[in-house]
Amino acid sequence: MSGSNGRFAAVFFDLDGTLVSERIGVREARTAVGARMIELGVWDKPASAFADTIEMVIGGIMEDNNWQWPLWLHAEEWLKRSLDVADVQVSDDEFRELADIYRDERSDRATAIDGWPEALAAARTHGPIGLITNFNDGPMQREKIRGAGLDGQFDGVYISGEVGVWKPEPGIFEHAAQDLGVEPSDCVHIGNNVESDIMGALSAGMSALLVEEDDRERPPSLDPRVVWCSDLHGVAEWLRSR
Ligand SMILES: [Mg+2]
Repeated sequence: MSGSNGRFAAVFFDLDGTLVSERIGVREARTAVGARMIELGVWDKPASAFADTIEMVIGGIMEDNNWQWPLWLHAEEWLKRSLDVADVQVSDDEFRELADIYRDERSDRATAIDGWPEALAAARTHGPIGLITNFNDGPMQREKIRGAGLDGQFDGVYISGEVGVWKPEPGIFEHAAQDLGVEPSDCVHIGNNVESDIMGALSAGMSALLVEEDDRERPPSLDPRVVWCSDLHGVAEWLRSR
């Protein structure tokens, strides 16, 4: 629980789907891979059809994993599987180039979610702001932070691939709190994933706030200890009210 005055010693945010949206950007990045495949002469359908193939492959894997993103499912892995499914052969150099195109396009297209300046300003009145994000590729995640215009907004950036611990493991929340010199029990973590963000934060002793990009109603099964907001404007209002 936070201090008796209701203020937090630090406020932590998740990145993807919480502060940064990539939904359109990811699709465009996948289509850009298809476009390069056409130029390489290895794909004779529309570029977007390869994006469809990627999404089908990822969708199948997600379904097999209870809709939790498996940590091994990084870009190289699903690109390799998608090429296999599409029966496309590329050289090692071409494969590397396609993976790089995806990474570059994705970083370039990441956009900060509406309401983020208000939410970070409200968080700043409590104390330091940290970012706790699950991603295997630290440099790419930092590129994405820059691409979305959020560079310099955080007192600490904790990327699971760099810390070596993944949400929902309490270790990454404890590491982040320790690095900012605060007790986890005096902090709140704000994220869009019930398992990794919310259950993880609670298991580390932090307060937790679920914010979802699309949903407009509190999930009925959500732990009653968890605060729920439909967007970052609501997050800002809640942080200001404490
Ligand atoms: Mg997220």
